[in-house]
Amino acid sequence: MTWEAGADLLVVGTGVAGLTAALRAREAGLRVLVVSKDSVSAGNTGWAQGGIAVVRPDELDPGDSLHKHVEDTLTAGVGLCAPEAVREILADGAEAIGRLRAAGAEFDRAARAGSDAVGGALARTREGGHQAFRVIHAGGDATGAEVQRALVAAVRGGGIPVLEEHCVVELLRGEGGAIAGALAMDSRSRPGVLHAPAVLLATGGLGQLYAATTNPEVSTADGVALALRAGAGVADLEFVQFHPTVLYAAGEARGRRPLVTEAVRGEGAVLLDVRGDRVMDGVHPLGDLAPRDVVSAAITRRAAETGAEHVFLDATGIPGFAERFPTVHASCREAGIDPRSEPIPVASAAHYSCGGVVSDVDGRTAVTGLYAAGEVACTGLHGANRLASNSLLEGLVVGGRAASAVAKDLGRGLLSRSSVGEVEPPAFAVVERDLLQRTMSRHAGIGRSEDGMAEASAVLDRNSVVRPLRTRQAVEDASLTLTAQALLAAARLREESRGCHRRTDFPETDDLRWRRSAVLRLDASGWLFHAGTGIARTAA
Ligand SMILES: Cc1cc2nc3c(=O)[nH]c(=O)nc-3n(C[C@H](O)[C@H](O)[C@H](O)COP(=O)(O)OP(=O)(O)OC[C@H]3O[C@@H](n4cnc5c(N)ncnc54)[C@H](O)[C@@H]3O)c2cc1C
Repeated sequence: MTWEAGADLLVVGTGVAGLTAALRAREAGLRVLVVSKDSVSAGNTGWAQGGIAVVRPDELDPGDSLHKHVEDTLTAGVGLCAPEAVREILADGAEAIGRLRAAGAEFDRAARAGSDAVGGALARTREGGHQAFRVIHAGGDATGAEVQRALVAAVRGGGIPVLEEHCVVELLRGEGGAIAGALAMDSRSRPGVLHAPAVLLATGGLGQLYAATTNPEVSTADGVALALRAGAGVADLEFVQFHPTVLYAAGEARGRRPLVTEAVRGEGAVLLDVRGDRVMDGVHPLGDLAPRDVVSAAITRRAAETGAEHVFLDATGIPGFAERFPTVHASCREAGIDPRSEPIPVASAAHYSCGGVVSDVDGRTAVTGLYAAGEVACTGLHGANRLASNSLLEGLVVGGRAASAVAKDLGRGLLSRSSVGEVEPPAFAVVERDLLQRTMSRHAGIGRSEDGMAEASAVLDRNSVVRPLRTRQAVEDASLTLTAQALLAAARLREESRGCHRRTDFPETDDLRWRRSAVLRLDASGWLFHAGTGIARTAA
């Protein structure tokens, strides 16, 4: 090994979940070390636009309540949320926002954004699936950038060490299989060991599985692969939320695509097809603000019916568009569109992973010393479809709780302090990225079938080559390859349509068989298997 470092808690990821955990761990007196494979602000967090859904008891819509937020979350999750986890996470939301503001985050005030009239109170907007105006935001449509800025400043201000350009390659386990740290590589691909009895995976999403996504380049599902290989279970991977309104570009759209936040519809924009007819008329009682899976499916259907690759979002009626939505306005102008006077062409793209590493609301997984929080985790908050703007909140709440859980587990002597010696970079199956992304977009997008997914799985099998993970690119490609196979396995298993998982060969929802989350694990020879009956979800 060319280098090594150690801590009580190793946090992998510098988005909302990782940095919140790091701050809380420091408060609890832990030695904490944070790593990001890229720059500190490279994850999904900085790109978040719309806001954070939260019911704060002192400032809320008349008639709104925590109970209603829970209700909306369960409705969006179509029977697969874990109701107790939903209640616990959302109930901690107001306090988490209080801590974030105390750490320096500034949210828009009502007087400035004009969403309601109470001067000094925080502005609140409404997004798809929400019964009330409860989404707080910053910089108009730049909420994630403000959250990221404030957390980075607090972590740096607190002197918490952050290793940028350090990629975690593999989790290391010691006595009895408990976590002992991680193998990582620095910016020059030199391997090193990070010793820690507790590792928190806060590695974000998996959008890069698809050819067109709202996610940045770092969202390559590394946490899912690391957890699977360490013996943890994953669930609900088949539920990939496609954002209905991503700026459409003619030709084959590739890589990260600019998002047109749902809050634009929250403030009155409507979806029109290429003939000028309303897309959401008669589709759902919430119309243009129906849950995302419903809107994405309607857009895909209407685009196919009209022979177009996109529909339009007409935001011309929103006064002060450029000031309220500066990020969206800038992306449109860059594409030669003026959203103040012409409709914006939009299509769906991979956006959010509702599933991930099975963990409880304190981030604990089935592996001693391994914790997960944020988009990589599957706590049961999102079920089959995430309610808009619940994810930053989950990162804040579960990130904080996971750090407290580590402090408790260490205090009770539940974690292992075994040391690890020399470790060689492992070798795993890798599929060339472009082929993998095209295959997943073609067969594992919004309309899926057994034939298509079997074909996709076979393409991945035929084209995989075992490579030692000596570069960040190899680590990411191996993560994408294993996660793609796991997602396909989960999606093939689920013979129904529910939430973000839409099958053309099983269009109905089958509560009798499938109101449950199937858990997948890796066996000793590296094959994915369905670990038992899974987590049965009960009614609220
Ligand atoms: C365009 C866009 C708009 C969104 N809008 C909203 C919104 O309005 N409201 C909302 O609630 N949510 C929104 N989301 C979702 C939300 O932003 C994410 O779910 C959330 O920010 C994820 O935070 P995280 O901390 O889990 O991960 P991220 O912020 O993605 O951070 C992941 C971190 O892990 C690091 N990492 C990954 N793999 C490794 C490895 N192998 N080794 C070392 N480091 C690694 C990365 O470098 C990065 O630091 C949006 C997402 C996008 C993309």
